Amino acid sequence: MQNLKVRPETLLTHSGREERKIGGTVNTPVYRASTLLFPTIDALHAVHGTLHTYGRHGNPTTRALESALCDLEGAYGAMLTPSGLSALTCALLATLKPGDHLLMTDSVYDPTRTFCDETLKRMGIETTYYDPLIGADIRALMRPNTRVVFVESPGSLTFEMQDIPAISQVAHEHGALVMLDNTWGTPIHFASFKHGVDVSIHAATKYIVGHSDVLMGVILTTEALYPRIRGFYRQLGLTVSADDAYLALRGLRTLSARLERHQHNARQVAEWLAAQPEVEKVLYPALSGAPGHAIWRRDFTGACGLFAIQLEPMPPQAIAAMLDGMKLFGMGFSWGGFESLILLTDPSKSRTAKPWQGKGPLVRLHIGLEHPEDLIADLDAGLNRLRSVIDATYS
Ligand SMILES: *Cc1c(COP(=O)(O)O)cnc(C)c1O
Repeated sequence: MQNLKVRPETLLTHSGREERKIGGTVNTPVYRASTLLFPTIDALHAVHGTLHTYGRHGNPTTRALESALCDLEGAYGAMLTPSGLSALTCALLATLKPGDHLLMTDSVYDPTRTFCDETLKRMGIETTYYDPLIGADIRALMRPNTRVVFVESPGSLTFEMQDIPAISQVAHEHGALVMLDNTWGTPIHFASFKHGVDVSIHAATKYIVGHSDVLMGVILTTEALYPRIRGFYRQLGLTVSADDAYLALRGLRTLSARLERHQHNARQVAEWLAAQPEVEKVLYPALSGAPGHAIWRRDFTGACGLFAIQLEPMPPQAIAAMLDGMKLFGMGFSWGGFESLILLTDPSKSRTAKPWQGKGPLVRLHIGLEHPEDLIADLDAGLNRLRSVIDATYS
């Protein structure tokens, strides 16, 4: 499919499908298999050393998903892992060795940070956290042993947009590679490899699967890095089940239709929230006037349904009164499914390069596929509960 010049919506519909044949199916079936059989010694020798000798190395279902993901983001190779976090840790371990230096955005997904602070540190790999808004000034932090510059744009709690082209240029001038957590961007809204990224990672758990029922990660790479990362991935024995790959491929088919709705709804809810007196800031890069909007417009072709609101300082029981009583928004740690979620977060605990400035509660919202007016009514009722607690506290 990669050679056919069609748009992402068309790729989503046609990539990773089987050759047309008599009695062929629209969807690649679930190949549940640990053992692959060979009819003769010659056949066994012919495939030996290639990828397809044993179930752990993949099957037609996982290969269909890998090839669709490569087509969508313009990658050379893809590897599926049991979770988004395992994709991140596998890619970091495959590219770093003792004595290397890693530059990591201060806005990174917190479990990635813990991996750097504990496992990478124990292996003699040093991490320096940098201000996500650093841009080309990252030059001052580059060392001769800086091997990887890690970006995540926007950050999934605090939504800083990073200047990835500027950062990539400096990284490459210094011989370092650029690794991205592209979960928010998705394979269709941020063309990572065109913006200088060498390794793009997704928590497929979020929008790719899209239905809150499978955990999965994917590592996408350039041709230059593929053999090394694939080799390491293989040594670790990472694999996903054909059933999960089937569900992810099924989710992927509707990615653009879902994202269109997620961003339409998110924009309506975000605009309504921006007009509420308790909301100091809406952190949604797709909203004009929001932090990072200019970079989002320059580099991205769309947005998703995840953003945050910075509220004014208030007693903890006020925010609890709002969140505990939500009828449509569920409280939970994920996002990217069809349903709306709301979460109280505290980024101040995990910042070291640039302290978090917000004084009041930071609330993250995932806007699902419900009708936006119903979501706004749920939030309106929540803000009224919050207001009565504030009024009672200060009266
Ligand atoms: C959820 C998430 C991950 C981890 O994915 P899991 O599948 O939950 O391990 C990584 N990065 C970001 C930005 C995420 O939101």
